[in-house]
Amino acid sequence: MLIAKNQEGLLVSALENGLNREKIYRCPGCQGIVMLRQGQVMCPHFAHKSLQGCQFFSENESAQHLSLKAALYQSLDNHGEKVCIEKVIPELGQIADLFVGDSLALEVQCSRLSQKRLRERTLAYHQIGYEVRWLLGEELWLGQRLTDLQRDFLYFTAKIGFHLWELDWKREEIRLKYLIYEDIFGKVHYLTKSWSFTENLMTILRFPYQARKVETYQV
Ligand SMILES: [Zn+2]
Repeated sequence: MLIAKNQEGLLVSALENGLNREKIYRCPGCQGIVMLRQGQVMCPHFAHKSLQGCQFFSENESAQHLSLKAALYQSLDNHGEKVCIEKVIPELGQIADLFVGDSLALEVQCSRLSQKRLRERTLAYHQIGYEVRWLLGEELWLGQRLTDLQRDFLYFTAKIGFHLWELDWKREEIRLKYLIYEDIFGKVHYLTKSWSFTENLMTILRFPYQARKVETYQV
Protein backbone atom coordinates (compact mmCIF):
# COMPACT_ATOMS: atom_id res chain seq x y z
CA MET A 1 0.00 0.00 0.00
CA LEU A 2 1.15 3.52 -0.73
CA ILE A 3 -0.77 5.58 1.79
CA ALA A 4 -1.08 5.57 5.55
CA LYS A 5 -2.24 7.85 8.34
CA ASN A 6 0.42 9.60 10.36
CA GLN A 7 0.23 10.28 14.10
CA GLU A 8 -1.73 13.44 13.43
CA GLY A 9 -4.31 11.40 11.54
CA LEU A 10 -3.39 12.89 8.17
CA LEU A 11 -2.96 10.77 5.07
CA VAL A 12 0.61 10.57 3.82
CA SER A 13 1.97 8.87 0.74
CA ALA A 14 4.98 6.57 0.72
CA LEU A 15 6.00 8.43 -2.44
CA GLU A 16 6.61 11.63 -0.49
CA ASN A 17 10.14 12.51 0.48
CA GLY A 18 11.14 12.93 4.06
CA LEU A 19 8.87 10.43 5.77
CA ASN A 20 10.26 9.30 9.08
CA ARG A 21 10.70 5.56 9.43
CA GLU A 22 10.65 5.80 13.19
CA LYS A 23 7.18 7.28 13.34
CA ILE A 24 4.01 5.28 13.74
CA TYR A 25 1.74 5.00 10.73
CA ARG A 26 -1.64 3.35 10.53
CA CYS A 27 -3.65 1.67 7.81
CA PRO A 28 -6.51 3.99 6.76
CA GLY A 29 -8.69 0.93 6.31
CA CYS A 30 -8.30 -1.21 9.42
CA GLN A 31 -6.34 1.31 11.56
CA GLY A 32 -3.66 -1.35 12.23
CA ILE A 33 -0.02 -0.32 12.47
CA VAL A 34 1.91 -0.27 9.20
CA MET A 35 5.64 0.10 8.61
CA LEU A 36 7.37 2.14 5.94
CA ARG A 37 9.43 -0.17 3.73
CA GLN A 38 11.90 0.64 1.05
CA GLY A 39 13.82 -1.90 -0.97
CA GLN A 40 15.77 -2.47 -4.16
CA VAL A 41 12.92 -3.77 -6.28
CA MET A 42 9.83 -2.36 -4.62
CA CYS A 43 9.14 1.34 -4.58
CA PRO A 44 8.65 2.72 -1.05
CA HIS A 45 5.45 1.38 0.49
CA PHE A 46 3.70 0.62 3.73
CA ALA A 47 3.10 -2.88 5.03
CA HIS A 48 1.01 -4.08 7.95
CA LYS A 49 3.07 -4.93 11.00
CA SER A 50 0.96 -7.92 11.89
CA LEU A 51 -0.45 -10.08 9.18
CA GLN A 52 -3.87 -10.46 10.70
CA GLY A 53 -6.37 -9.99 7.94
CA CYS A 54 -7.05 -6.48 6.82
CA GLN A 55 -10.16 -6.44 4.68
CA PHE A 56 -8.95 -3.43 2.74
CA PHE A 57 -5.34 -4.08 1.78
CA SER A 58 -3.85 -7.38 0.77
CA GLU A 59 -0.25 -7.87 1.85
CA ASN A 60 1.01 -9.71 -1.17
CA GLU A 61 0.97 -6.70 -3.42
CA SER A 62 3.47 -7.15 -6.21
CA ALA A 63 6.19 -4.71 -7.23
CA GLN A 64 4.36 -4.38 -10.54
CA HIS A 65 1.11 -3.37 -8.85
CA LEU A 66 2.75 -0.84 -6.55
CA SER A 67 4.82 0.73 -9.31
CA LEU A 68 1.93 0.98 -11.75
CA LYS A 69 -0.26 2.67 -9.17
CA ALA A 70 2.52 5.10 -8.32
CA ALA A 71 3.22 5.86 -11.99
CA LEU A 72 -0.43 6.47 -12.85
CA TYR A 73 -0.89 8.63 -9.80
CA GLN A 74 2.11 10.76 -10.72
CA SER A 75 0.94 11.09 -14.30
CA LEU A 76 -2.56 12.21 -13.34
CA ASP A 77 -1.24 14.57 -10.70
CA ASN A 78 1.23 16.11 -13.17
CA HIS A 79 -1.67 16.88 -15.49
CA GLY A 80 -3.55 18.66 -12.73
CA GLU A 81 -6.22 16.01 -12.21
CA LYS A 82 -7.85 15.67 -8.83
CA VAL A 83 -6.63 12.20 -7.96
CA CYS A 84 -6.49 10.07 -4.81
CA ILE A 85 -4.37 6.99 -4.53
CA GLU A 86 -5.86 4.06 -2.64
CA LYS A 87 -9.09 5.76 -1.74
CA VAL A 88 -11.01 3.99 0.98
CA ILE A 89 -14.65 3.70 -0.08
CA PRO A 90 -16.47 2.90 3.14
CA GLU A 91 -19.79 2.07 1.42
CA LEU A 92 -18.03 -0.75 -0.40
CA GLY A 93 -15.60 -1.81 2.31
CA GLN A 94 -12.88 -1.65 -0.29
CA ILE A 95 -10.18 0.48 -1.80
CA ALA A 96 -10.06 2.07 -5.24
CA ASP A 97 -6.46 1.90 -6.47
CA LEU A 98 -6.91 5.38 -7.90
CA PHE A 99 -9.87 7.66 -7.78
CA VAL A 100 -10.12 10.55 -10.23
CA GLY A 101 -12.43 13.55 -9.96
CA ASP A 102 -15.73 12.79 -8.25
CA SER A 103 -16.72 9.48 -9.74
CA LEU A 104 -14.07 7.54 -11.65
CA ALA A 105 -12.26 4.59 -10.07
CA LEU A 106 -9.22 3.10 -11.78
CA GLU A 107 -8.35 -0.45 -10.81
CA VAL A 108 -4.89 -1.75 -11.62
CA GLN A 109 -5.46 -5.48 -11.91
CA CYS A 110 -2.25 -7.49 -12.07
CA SER A 111 -3.45 -10.92 -11.01
CA ARG A 112 -6.35 -13.17 -11.78
CA LEU A 113 -9.47 -12.84 -9.74
CA SER A 114 -12.69 -14.76 -9.98
CA GLN A 115 -15.28 -13.55 -12.47
CA LYS A 116 -17.75 -13.46 -9.63
CA ARG A 117 -15.54 -11.12 -7.62
CA LEU A 118 -14.91 -8.91 -10.65
CA ARG A 119 -18.62 -8.59 -11.39
CA GLU A 120 -19.42 -7.89 -7.75
CA ARG A 121 -16.82 -5.14 -7.56
CA THR A 122 -17.90 -3.54 -10.82
CA LEU A 123 -21.56 -3.67 -9.82
CA ALA A 124 -20.78 -2.23 -6.38
CA TYR A 125 -19.12 0.79 -8.01
CA HIS A 126 -22.06 1.31 -10.35
CA GLN A 127 -24.57 1.06 -7.53
CA ILE A 128 -23.08 4.05 -5.76
CA GLY A 129 -22.84 6.01 -8.98
CA TYR A 130 -19.15 5.51 -9.78
CA GLU A 131 -17.56 4.43 -13.02
CA VAL A 132 -14.69 1.96 -13.00
CA ARG A 133 -11.97 1.25 -15.53
CA TRP A 134 -10.07 -1.99 -15.10
CA LEU A 135 -6.49 -1.65 -16.35
CA LEU A 136 -4.73 -4.95 -16.82
CA GLY A 137 -1.22 -5.96 -15.80
CA GLU A 138 0.94 -8.38 -17.72
CA GLU A 139 -0.64 -11.61 -16.56
CA LEU A 140 -3.98 -10.53 -17.97
CA TRP A 141 -2.89 -9.09 -21.30
CA LEU A 142 -4.85 -10.17 -24.32
CA GLY A 143 -3.18 -12.88 -26.37
CA GLN A 144 -4.50 -14.89 -29.28
CA ARG A 145 -7.61 -15.98 -27.45
CA LEU A 146 -10.03 -14.37 -25.07
CA THR A 147 -10.27 -16.04 -21.70
CA ASP A 148 -13.60 -16.01 -19.86
CA LEU A 149 -12.12 -13.58 -17.38
CA GLN A 150 -10.88 -11.25 -20.12
CA ARG A 151 -14.38 -11.15 -21.58
CA ASP A 152 -15.51 -9.53 -18.37
CA PHE A 153 -12.89 -6.82 -18.73
CA LEU A 154 -14.16 -5.80 -22.17
CA TYR A 155 -15.76 -2.45 -22.71
CA PHE A 156 -17.84 -1.46 -25.69
CA THR A 157 -18.41 1.85 -27.43
CA ALA A 158 -19.95 2.55 -30.82
CA LYS A 159 -16.74 4.23 -32.01
CA ILE A 160 -14.23 1.48 -31.35
CA GLY A 161 -16.30 -1.60 -30.56
CA PHE A 162 -15.07 -4.05 -27.95
CA HIS A 163 -11.89 -2.95 -26.26
CA LEU A 164 -9.77 -3.41 -23.17
CA TRP A 165 -6.94 -1.59 -21.42
CA GLU A 166 -3.48 -2.90 -20.61
CA LEU A 167 -0.69 -1.44 -18.52
CA ASP A 168 2.94 -2.09 -19.39
CA TRP A 169 5.15 -1.58 -16.38
CA LYS A 170 8.46 -2.00 -18.21
CA ARG A 171 7.68 0.23 -21.17
CA GLU A 172 5.74 2.66 -18.99
CA GLU A 173 2.81 2.79 -21.33
CA ILE A 174 -0.91 2.24 -21.41
CA ARG A 175 -2.29 0.22 -24.32
CA LEU A 176 -5.71 0.05 -25.81
CA LYS A 177 -6.68 -3.07 -27.72
CA TYR A 178 -9.79 -2.29 -29.68
CA LEU A 179 -12.11 -3.43 -32.42
CA ILE A 180 -11.64 -6.81 -30.81
CA TYR A 181 -13.14 -9.48 -32.99
CA GLU A 182 -13.20 -13.21 -32.37
CA ASP A 183 -13.29 -15.35 -35.51
CA ILE A 184 -15.07 -18.69 -35.84
CA PHE A 185 -11.88 -20.49 -34.77
CA GLY A 186 -11.79 -18.52 -31.53
CA LYS A 187 -8.76 -16.50 -32.58
CA VAL A 188 -8.95 -12.83 -31.68
CA HIS A 189 -8.09 -9.93 -33.95
CA TYR A 190 -7.71 -6.33 -32.84
CA LEU A 191 -5.96 -3.03 -33.33
CA THR A 192 -3.59 -1.57 -30.76
CA LYS A 193 -2.78 1.95 -29.66
CA SER A 194 -0.31 2.87 -26.96
CA TRP A 195 0.50 5.98 -25.05
CA SER A 196 3.30 6.82 -22.65
CA PHE A 197 2.42 7.34 -18.99
CA THR A 198 3.64 10.91 -19.40
CA GLU A 199 0.63 11.73 -21.58
CA ASN A 200 -2.69 12.89 -20.20
CA LEU A 201 -4.34 9.73 -18.96
CA MET A 202 -7.82 11.21 -18.80
CA THR A 203 -7.64 12.21 -22.46
CA ILE A 204 -6.50 8.68 -23.27
CA LEU A 205 -9.35 7.10 -21.30
CA ARG A 206 -11.84 9.22 -23.25
CA PHE A 207 -10.50 7.96 -26.56
CA PRO A 208 -13.10 5.15 -26.93
CA TYR A 209 -15.83 7.77 -26.91
CA GLN A 210 -14.10 10.42 -28.94
CA ALA A 211 -12.17 8.62 -31.65
CA ARG A 212 -12.57 10.73 -34.79
CA LYS A 213 -13.36 8.24 -37.46
CA VAL A 214 -14.42 4.66 -37.25
CA GLU A 215 -11.44 2.53 -38.19
CA THR A 216 -11.66 -0.84 -39.88
CA TYR A 217 -9.35 -3.70 -40.71
CA GLN A 218 -9.51 -6.82 -42.83
CA VAL A 219 -9.67 -10.30 -41.38
ZN1 LIG B 1 -5.29 -2.51 7.11
